[in-house]
Amino acid sequence: MEKYETHVHDVIVIGAGGAGLRAAIEASAQGASVGLVCKSLLGKAHTVMAEGGIAAALANVDVKDNWQVHFRDTMKGGKMLNNWRMAQIHAQEAPDRVKELEMWGALFDRTNDGRIMQRAFGGHSWKRLCHVGDRTGLEMIRTLQEKGIHSGMDVYMECTITHLLKDGERIAGAFGYWRESGRFVVFKSKSVVLATGGIGKAYKITSNSWEYTGDGHALAYEAGAELIDMEFVQFHPTGMVWPPSVKGILVTEAVRGEGGILTNSKGERFMERYDPQKMELSTRDVVARSIYTEVKEGRGSPHGGAFLDISHKGPEYIKRKLPSMYHQFMEFADIDITKGPMEVGPTTHYMMGGVRVQAENGASTVPGLFAAGEVAGGMHGANRLGGNSLSDLLVFGRRAGLGAAQYANEINGDSLKINEDELEQAAREMLRPFENAHGENPYTVHSTLQDVMQNYFGVFRIDEGLKHGINELEKLKERASHLKIEGTRLYNPGWHLCRDLKSMLIISEAIAKSALQRQESRGAHSRVDYPNTDDYKWGKVNSVITKDGESMRIGVSPLPEMPEELKRIIAEDK
Ligand SMILES: Cc1cc2nc3c(=O)[nH]c(=O)nc-3n(C[C@H](O)[C@H](O)[C@H](O)COP(=O)(O)OP(=O)(O)OC[C@H]3O[C@@H](n4cnc5c(N)ncnc54)[C@H](O)[C@@H]3O)c2cc1C
Repeated sequence: MEKYETHVHDVIVIGAGGAGLRAAIEASAQGASVGLVCKSLLGKAHTVMAEGGIAAALANVDVKDNWQVHFRDTMKGGKMLNNWRMAQIHAQEAPDRVKELEMWGALFDRTNDGRIMQRAFGGHSWKRLCHVGDRTGLEMIRTLQEKGIHSGMDVYMECTITHLLKDGERIAGAFGYWRESGRFVVFKSKSVVLATGGIGKAYKITSNSWEYTGDGHALAYEAGAELIDMEFVQFHPTGMVWPPSVKGILVTEAVRGEGGILTNSKGERFMERYDPQKMELSTRDVVARSIYTEVKEGRGSPHGGAFLDISHKGPEYIKRKLPSMYHQFMEFADIDITKGPMEVGPTTHYMMGGVRVQAENGASTVPGLFAAGEVAGGMHGANRLGGNSLSDLLVFGRRAGLGAAQYANEINGDSLKINEDELEQAAREMLRPFENAHGENPYTVHSTLQDVMQNYFGVFRIDEGLKHGINELEKLKERASHLKIEGTRLYNPGWHLCRDLKSMLIISEAIAKSALQRQESRGAHSRVDYPNTDDYKWGKVNSVITKDGESMRIGVSPLPEMPEELKRIIAEDK
């Protein structure tokens, strides 16, 4: 181990978005020595891109709101596949986490009487999203970062973790490399919190940035943890569709929350056909399918989407409530959204599936390994409601940090051993692309992977497409086993992509196998050949992915039984 630069901590948190920062703050508060590792610069995580808001039943605008309604909305939005205990804790604790954020310095938009302002969002019964214009994530990260760096943790930036280290069955640390120098680094720790975010870069059209290659999902899988619900990939209904260079960039749901109207090429307000009650504020899975169907049936906008218009609200209102959207369309598409409609279409946005964790403390099925945020599964079931991610990060980031610190406190760290052979193997695997005399270009493999995922595992899925896609993934796995890279280890993005590809191929296979297994349509998973929701068979189980030697095993596990008092809440009306 002396061979590599080594850092020793009680708790290592991998990922510095909302979940990672909140976990690190909590673990530090418990007295643990914490190392926070992130692939990019601190403050550049995905969370910073969040726009519309944080869902919490504060009841500042709609006084009838409470945790019970938030819980019911979340479960119904998730088509009852959510881990009910997570949904309950989330709804109960989100208001305190938002108030805490405010206490730490976050400046939210205000109601006239000075309370935190809340806006409407799809699937939420009441105005529930606490926001800062359409730049909520920026304020959240700014606040957590300030709090975090004064909490005494060590931050390791531009450092990619490629392997979790184990001592027997237990976690013993993590192995990675500095992106700038390419040098390897070892973190020895009693527990690890994964907070690595999503998987969007496995798809061609996505709202996600370069960082979201499913690393945490893959690290957990390789370490023996269970992944659940991997078939549920959220396609946000409104991404930009034009010009091609910005295809997929998000158009926040806040546009619809603030009164935006969707129409097709015939000028029809088509949501009347698909969800006449909720219209544009239907859940994301429904709106995405609706736009997709309109386009497929020949009623799309010129660039293959739908029209979204907010101009009736007037320039002053739009520039105040949706400043980023105004600038985004002005700069990227030369369109003034205060004067006319935007063109929008579905974009890969969020991963509902992830590491199976315990609701109370974020513990995975591997001792010492915890997970929180987008990398964790269970909270959102088959479909996430907008705004429920930022609140999830705060609620379960805190709980995972607490759980990891308590675990670290209970075990004797001196007895943890790093296995030298495991380290050498991790290093050898990383260096292989430099040694292959002939091989594939990682960029070509990545581009093909994105096409396969987009074409066969997108908004609508069908048996023959899924099987064909799985065959294509097998070929890509083979091609990716002999990647070749030029140059040195000094800041070499092609080399970094070789490792990212491994993660993306693992999560793509998990998505594919889970999607093939679930023979029904539910939430974000729409099967053309099984268009109905089958509560009797599939409403009672989560899909489970585990590593079995060199193969990926797919199975199901029963949903835990919901207590009677929560069933009553679900059965009540608004
Ligand atoms: C454009 C956009 C707008 C959104 N708007 C909203 C909204 O309004 N409300 C809402 O609730 N949700 C919203 N979401 C979703 C929400 O932002 C994300 O789900 C959430 O921020 C994920 O947070 P996280 O902490 O789990 O991970 P992230 O914020 O994604 O952070 C992941 C961290 O992990 C690090 N990392 C990844 N892999 C590695 C590795 N191998 N080694 C080391 N570090 C690694 C990254 O560097 C990063 O620091 C939006 C998403 C997008 C893309």
